[in-house]
Amino acid sequence: MGRYLEAKCRLCRRADMKLFLKGPRCITEKCSYAKRPTPPGMHHNQRKPKSSYYALQLREKQKVKQIYGMLERQFARFFRLASKSKGATGRVLIQLLERRIDNVIFRSLFALSRNQARQIVRHGFVFIGGKRADIPSYIVREGETIEIKAKDSIKQGIRDNHEISAKERSSPVWIQVDKDNLSIKIVRLPEKEDLAVSINEQLIVELYSK
Ligand code: SF4
Repeated sequence: MGRYLEAKCRLCRRADMKLFLKGPRCITEKCSYAKRPTPPGMHHNQRKPKSSYYALQLREKQKVKQIYGMLERQFARFFRLASKSKGATGRVLIQLLERRIDNVIFRSLFALSRNQARQIVRHGFVFIGGKRADIPSYIVREGETIEIKAKDSIKQGIRDNHEISAKERSSPVWIQVDKDNLSIKIVRLPEKEDLAVSINEQLIVELYSK
């Protein structure tokens, strides 16, 4: 799968919020957004013309893609899935994004960034119902239990991640995290109020509906 390879901290400054794209650095005073919470570029102080509604829609979509580490094609596939399902498209889209297994590992605090969570999945350390789940875009279901199985040194590293992450974030209520056994239970499906960042999904729905 393709990846976004540009400077990640610029994205946080553009989105005007911490997107936690760089792992450990994000929770230290080295965080670029914490040091300089202004838009990137030399001329950020100058008055800019008001953004068009289309620009707002586009920026919201870019922000969400960057948060979940997705490129256009994969994101568009998620949107198509959401629009074909019952329920409101925006709500289902948020649920699908949050239910990605890499996101679940990140939100359980077992990884310092979604990139790191993706690596944990890709390396085959994640199991659901006894079966290895090594595709980061796998969508977890209500009632499923996710287990991390690896050699002791890797498990210890993952527990350390939890300890470091807990200083800055907390896991959402729709998942139940067992830090000692490295397991996660999906208690219910996520809702918008469970998100760690604010997302205006309606702007994205409107953009794709043009
Ligand atoms: Fe960079 Fe801070 Fe954003 Fe992490 S949270 S990617 S360190 S600006």
